[in-house]
Amino acid sequence: MEQKIIYADNAATTPVSPSVLEKMLPFFSQSYGNPSSMYSIARDNKEAVEHARAQIASAINADPNEIYFTAGGSESDNWAIKGIAQTQSARGKKHLITTNFEHHAVLHTMEELEKAGFEVTYLPVNEDGLVTAEQVAAALRPETALVSIMYANNEIGTIQPIAEIGELCRQKGVMFHTDAVQAVGAIPIDVKAEKIDLLSMSSHKFNGPKGVGALYIRKGIRPARLIHGGGQERGQRAGTENVPGIVGMGQALENAIETMESKTAHLLEIRDYVVEAIEREIPRVRLNGHRTQRLPGNVNVSFQACEGESLLLFLDMAGICASSGSACTSGSLDPSHVLLAIGLPHELAHGSIRLTFGGQNTLEEARHICEELKKIVAEVRRRSPLWNEEKGA
Ligand SMILES: *Cc1c(COP(=O)(O)O)cnc(C)c1O
Repeated sequence: MEQKIIYADNAATTPVSPSVLEKMLPFFSQSYGNPSSMYSIARDNKEAVEHARAQIASAINADPNEIYFTAGGSESDNWAIKGIAQTQSARGKKHLITTNFEHHAVLHTMEELEKAGFEVTYLPVNEDGLVTAEQVAAALRPETALVSIMYANNEIGTIQPIAEIGELCRQKGVMFHTDAVQAVGAIPIDVKAEKIDLLSMSSHKFNGPKGVGALYIRKGIRPARLIHGGGQERGQRAGTENVPGIVGMGQALENAIETMESKTAHLLEIRDYVVEAIEREIPRVRLNGHRTQRLPGNVNVSFQACEGESLLLFLDMAGICASSGSACTSGSLDPSHVLLAIGLPHELAHGSIRLTFGGQNTLEEARHICEELKKIVAEVRRRSPLWNEEKGA
């Protein structure tokens, strides 16, 4: 009998929804013209790209000409940070502020800039995984070029006080970027009200295709270019447009906004069920990240005396897709920098798993996951010398 797969790793990526795929398909082999060309199949494509730009702008309360398409969240982060660093350093501003639990697309970019002579302040987050506007205020200097703080964390789902940080940065005249890859399409965002200057997003995190994303750049701000070449994206980002990808991204985000309310209610039901069941049924567990100020589909838990990788292997055998740490770092044995940042000891960080739910998941699946997890944790602990030692003690 073929085993049914339960996919609970929606923070890593999401399936392209059928209505999105349907919108994309004609742009591969029928309407394939280069949007920069002059004939009608090319003009149609230009229109399709502009339609997607408007869909995306309206989702975050931006203007369409503030949206620039990129090849995904990583490129958007790189462009925002390196681009602003470059233009601001020309004015003598070579200090950057971020947190110590950003996605690697931000952290590794910051590290590169440090090698190039920039100074970076990595704000610590508290044990709930939150940073405050006061911390940012205390770190600001006259030569601060940029503050970059993620909207919602990809591992533990905590949502930062973005509007307060935006307000502070606007008052102080400092540029503010947020990696909103996990937040866009999941929770309401208003770049105007929240005073965001630059915002990164990625299509494959909200049921669009992979390899396409966007950077919102507030009118009047001009980061240095990252990708040089042709004059696409109003001269700011070269490369023939990924027309099917862009069309898919626009449609996926429009769908996400339309269904956000009902989807959030559904995900909260699943999330709260899972957290409650795990805490009730399994001893020595810890929920990572703030209990309520977190993404509706995110559960991240640590089990004492358990190896996260073993849990994942057993879950996989049970047909359940989950993750430990972030997908980008699995394969490495270092514990997650996010879990260390919220103060978990190495041992507990190693025993953590992330379950991230999406619209396609059901409460029935959540129940099944909890039942399996209870058995699996008991089995892994039964084999763990650490656990047996603790019990004997
Ligand atoms: C997935 C993710 C990224 C990277 O996006 P890609 O489109 O995969 O390059 C960046 N930041 C966060 C918070 C993410 O979750």
